[in-house]
Amino acid sequence: ATKGAQALQPYQPGKPIDELEREYGIKNAIKLASNENPTGISPLVISAIQAHLQELPRYPDGNGFRLKQALAKYHKLNIDNIALGNGSNDILDLVARAFVSEQDAVLFSAHAFAVYPIVTQAIGAKMIIVPAKNWGHDLTAMRQAITPNTKLIFIANPNNPTGTWVNKTELQNFLDNVPENVIIVLDEAYFDYMDAPDYPDSSLWLDRYPNLVVARTFSKAYGLAALRVGYALAHPDIINLLNRVRQPFNVNTLALIAAEVALQDRAYIQNAVALNKVGLATLTQAFDKMGINYIPSRANFITFDLGKPALPIYEALLHQGVIVRPIGSYGMPNHLRVTVGLPEENERFIQALKKILTQT
Ligand code: PMP
Repeated sequence: ATKGAQALQPYQPGKPIDELEREYGIKNAIKLASNENPTGISPLVISAIQAHLQELPRYPDGNGFRLKQALAKYHKLNIDNIALGNGSNDILDLVARAFVSEQDAVLFSAHAFAVYPIVTQAIGAKMIIVPAKNWGHDLTAMRQAITPNTKLIFIANPNNPTGTWVNKTELQNFLDNVPENVIIVLDEAYFDYMDAPDYPDSSLWLDRYPNLVVARTFSKAYGLAALRVGYALAHPDIINLLNRVRQPFNVNTLALIAAEVALQDRAYIQNAVALNKVGLATLTQAFDKMGINYIPSRANFITFDLGKPALPIYEALLHQGVIVRPIGSYGMPNHLRVTVGLPEENERFIQALKKILTQT
C-alpha cells in the first residue's frame, strides 16, 4: 500500500439506526448524526424515479446533460461551468486528483470536513493544517501558510462539524490574495440553509476567480443523500480537467433524474429550510436553558460543548435511542454534533440530554 493509504483513518459515518436497534435492543431510535434532511422525499422526486425505473438496464447519460442544463439555468451559468459528482465528496476527490501530485501540498483548516485529509492522503500529498480561530477558519493564517508547493485549498463554508462560516468580505479578500495557480474549493454543502446576511453566494464569482471551484450537493436541503449527487461550478478549463479524471457514469440514472426534479421543487426546499430554522432555535434555546455552550450555526446541525469528554454522553444518548455524532476525530473530544431533526425528534434529543445531564 502507499504511505498515504496506510496513514489514513477510515471515514466514520454516523451509526445507522438499524445497527443501534440491533446492538442495544432498542426500538424507535432516531438519527440526528449525518446532517440529513428529516422531511422525507419530495413527492415529485418519487414520481420521477418511478417513471425512470425501466431505464436501469442501460448506462446513465455519462454527460449528465439534462441535469447540467437544469443547473446551468438555475445558476445562470453555462453547461461547461458544471461537473457532476457522485456526491460532492466525489467532486472534492476529482479536484484533488486533477490538480495535486505527490510532491504537492493541500491546505485546509483544523476541525475542517473529514474528506479533505482523505483525498489528500490518498494521493500521498502533504497536508498543511492551519489552526482554527474560535473553531472557524482563520483565513489570514491560511493565506500565510501557503507554500510554493500548495496547489489546493479547501474551505468549507459553512464548515462541518463546527458550523462556522466565513463572510463575504473575508472570503473575497482571501480570494484576491491567493496566487492564481492555487485552486480554491469553496465547499458549500449547506448553502441552502445559510440565511446569515453576510454569507456569500460564491457561485456568482466565477468570472472574477478562474481558480475557484464551488462545490454543492443534493444530499442536504434537497434530501437526496442516498442517491449521491453533487456538482462543481468553475471556469470551463477546470471543469474540463475534472471531466478527464472523472469515472465514466459516476452519477447514476435515478440520481440524475431525481436531482433534476428536486432542483425545480422549490416548495420542498423552502419547507425544509423553514423547519430547520425553527428547529435550530429550539435547540439553541434548550442549550441556553441547560447552560450548555454551543458554536453558533445557521446550517442543519449544531455542535455543542460538554466541557468534558463527550463520548460517555454520546453513549448515554444511544441508550436513549438518540444517535448524534461524536467528533473526537476532528480534534473536538468535548463536543458533540447534533443534526436538526423534525420538531418531535429535536424534543426527544433535548429530553434525553436533560435526563442524562441531571443523572451524571
Ligand atoms: N462537504 C461538507 C462540508 C459536508 O458536510 C458533506 C456531507 N457530510 C459533504 C461535503 C459531502 O456530501 P455529499 O458527498 O453527500 O454531497
